[in-house]
Amino acid sequence: MDLGLKGKTAVVTGSSQGIGLCVARGLAAEGVDVFLCARNKEKLDKAVEGVAKDFGVRAIGVSTDVSEASGVDTLVKSVLEKTSGIDILINNAGTGSEETIMDAPDEKWTYFWNLHVMSSIRTARGFVPSMKKRGGGVILNTASILATQPLYYEPIYNTTKAALAMFTKCLANEVVKFNIRVNTINPGLILTPDWWKSATILAKKEGITPQQYLDRIAKEAPIGRFATPEELANTYVFLCSDRASYCLGSSYYVDGGWLKVTN
Ligand code: NDP
Repeated sequence: MDLGLKGKTAVVTGSSQGIGLCVARGLAAEGVDVFLCARNKEKLDKAVEGVAKDFGVRAIGVSTDVSEASGVDTLVKSVLEKTSGIDILINNAGTGSEETIMDAPDEKWTYFWNLHVMSSIRTARGFVPSMKKRGGGVILNTASILATQPLYYEPIYNTTKAALAMFTKCLANEVVKFNIRVNTINPGLILTPDWWKSATILAKKEGITPQQYLDRIAKEAPIGRFATPEELANTYVFLCSDRASYCLGSSYYVDGGWLKVTN
C-alpha cells in the first residue's frame, strides 16, 4: 500500500530508542525526512546515523530536554532553521513514574506535567504555524492505555497521560480547520528499554528477576505477550498517512486486548 508519505518532514520527540526510534525508522522507511530528539546526544547521534544509513533520508538530531520550555524552544528553532516547515509531529517523550499520592511532592507532579503535557502543548504552538502554511499536517501524541486503565503504582503517570489525551482532543477540534489531524495513541505493553528499567526496580522489591517480572506482566493482556516497538510503529505510520484521513481527535489503543472495557 503506498502511504503517500515520501518527501514529507517529521519531528519525533523521545526518539533515540524505544517507541520513538521505531516510529522515526518506520516513517523514514516510507521516505520521510526525520528530526529525532532526546537529551543524551551520544545515543541520539547513533540513532540518527542508523536512520540516515538504513533509509537514505535526511535525518537530523536535536539534543534537548522537552520537559522544559527552553528545551522545546531549542527544538522548534533548530528544526525551522534547517527546513521550511514540518508535516508530521510525534510527541512521544515520556517515562513511567512510581509513587503514592500521599508521598509524592508537588515537584514530581510538576515535572511529569511538564514532560507529558506542556511539552506537547509547546511543540504544537511551535510547529502548527508551519503546518498551516503547508496546507495541513498530522500530530500524534503518545499517551498510554494507563490514561484510561490506571496502574496502581504510578498515579502521576496515569493522570498526566489522561490529561494528554484530553489536550489532544481539544487541539484536534481547534486545528482541524487548517487540515491538521491530531490523535492520541494509547500503547499497552511494548517491550522497550523503559520497561527493562522499571522491571529491574520493581522485581528487586519482590525478590524476582526482571524477566520473571516481565513474563508475569505480559499475562495481563489477553494476547499474552509484549508487543515489539516495531509492531506499534506501524499504527503511527498509518495514522500519519492520508489513508487515515477520517481519523481525528481519537485515542487509538494498540494493547493486545489489555483494555478491559470497550473504549
Ligand atoms: P524509552 O525510555 O525506551 O525511550 C524514551 C525516549 O525518550 C528516549 O529516547 C529518551 O532519551 C527520550 N526522552 C525521555 N525524556 C526526555 C526529555 N525530557 N526530553 C527529550 N527526550 C526525552 O521509552 P518508551 O519507548 O518505552 O516510551 C516512549 C513513550 O511511550 C513514552 O511517552 C511512554 O510513556 C509511552 N508508552 C510506553 C509504553 C511501553 O510499554 N513501553 C506503553 C504506553 C506508553 P533521553 O533519555 O536521552 O532523553
